[in-house]
Amino acid sequence: MKQAPDRLTSLLDECKSLAFDLNFSYAKQWKAKSKYRLLVGYLPIYVPREIIHAANGMAVGILGVGDRKQIIKGDAYYQSYICHLPRGIIEMALDSNLDNFDGFLFPSICDCVRNLSGMFKLAKRGKFTRYFDYPQNFQKNIGGTFYRELLETIINDMFKLNDMKITTKHLNDSIALYNHNRELIETIYNIRQEYPWRLSAVDVYHVIRAGMVINVEKHNEMLEEIVDLISEDFGEPMDNIRVVISGSFCEQPPIGMIKSIEMAGCYIVDDDFMLGSRWIQGNIKDSSSDPLNELVDSFLTQSAPSSAIYDVADPKGARLVKQVKMRNADGVIFCAASFCDPALLDRPSLQKSCDDAGIAHINFQFHENTGQFKVIKEQAGTFSDSIKLWV
Ligand code: SF4
Repeated sequence: MKQAPDRLTSLLDECKSLAFDLNFSYAKQWKAKSKYRLLVGYLPIYVPREIIHAANGMAVGILGVGDRKQIIKGDAYYQSYICHLPRGIIEMALDSNLDNFDGFLFPSICDCVRNLSGMFKLAKRGKFTRYFDYPQNFQKNIGGTFYRELLETIINDMFKLNDMKITTKHLNDSIALYNHNRELIETIYNIRQEYPWRLSAVDVYHVIRAGMVINVEKHNEMLEEIVDLISEDFGEPMDNIRVVISGSFCEQPPIGMIKSIEMAGCYIVDDDFMLGSRWIQGNIKDSSSDPLNELVDSFLTQSAPSSAIYDVADPKGARLVKQVKMRNADGVIFCAASFCDPALLDRPSLQKSCDDAGIAHINFQFHENTGQFKVIKEQAGTFSDSIKLWV
């Protein structure tokens, strides 16, 4: 059997260490090179990073602490019956992890994150803090107008800090860079659909997560190299089923859990672990005289299915079924963070869509610092065996 190229192994190691650097050293070093550079932290799931890039900034994804930091102060800020992610992030803010950040964006994903934005304000973290309120009306003249005003407010927040005016060219160039980034990520998923043994789901996770804490130019270079390397033939297929993972879009799953699912005999051929980087489906026009308008339109018409989106015109259940068929998957694993209202409230209707389409599914919950995976491995292994035997 041909082994994975050494260069791929070293790139994956680099991605892993970037992805879990809770001090964001790369981003802070990048900022230190010019007083006009900005660091803007954002929480899951999605913000249009293009506007930050065009304003000479770096958008830095803050995805929680996983099992890499002990939470002491964070527990004092939140009640026990919510998910884990906000506690870790407030702990980071109260320690020095987020020092040197200029601003923070808190997408309107749930009440926990809404409250976290208020805590950052009270604790005086960053020079600006914005609650990033996604429009839930998808008419251009209503939700679109609201969204454009929000983007203009954030652009103005950044302008006040570095005096850098975003030109049409700047924004078009930034859109082109992120289009390329999304294309490369989708190429990786498409290669894995055919040859999932060439890159594990854990590796893919590290590769995409690394892109949330480095500049897009560097990430694109790494992705281009990875695409080239995994286009070569190596490794050997296993007798695994193919699954889509749904529901883990915000608090991040422990790496051990992803590994356990794979070791139990499941190739994860699609997932929503890092949905923010894959949020816009397809390209955004990058040669417009009004690129901000293109970003607004892309949110209204090209957003990925998510519990953060009111989807009456384009139901998530039907989109999940389509995704399963497109990836030629054998089943769905619903796996959401404990106490995650948006994901858990959506789950019954998604399960019904799978039932109606004859798609097998199982479900479980996690929190970011779960340490025991035996039960999850047994459950995923039984799912895999039952599909192999009876479907
Ligand atoms: S995991 Fe769910 S409950 Fe927790 S912050 Fe994200 S959306 Fe909110």
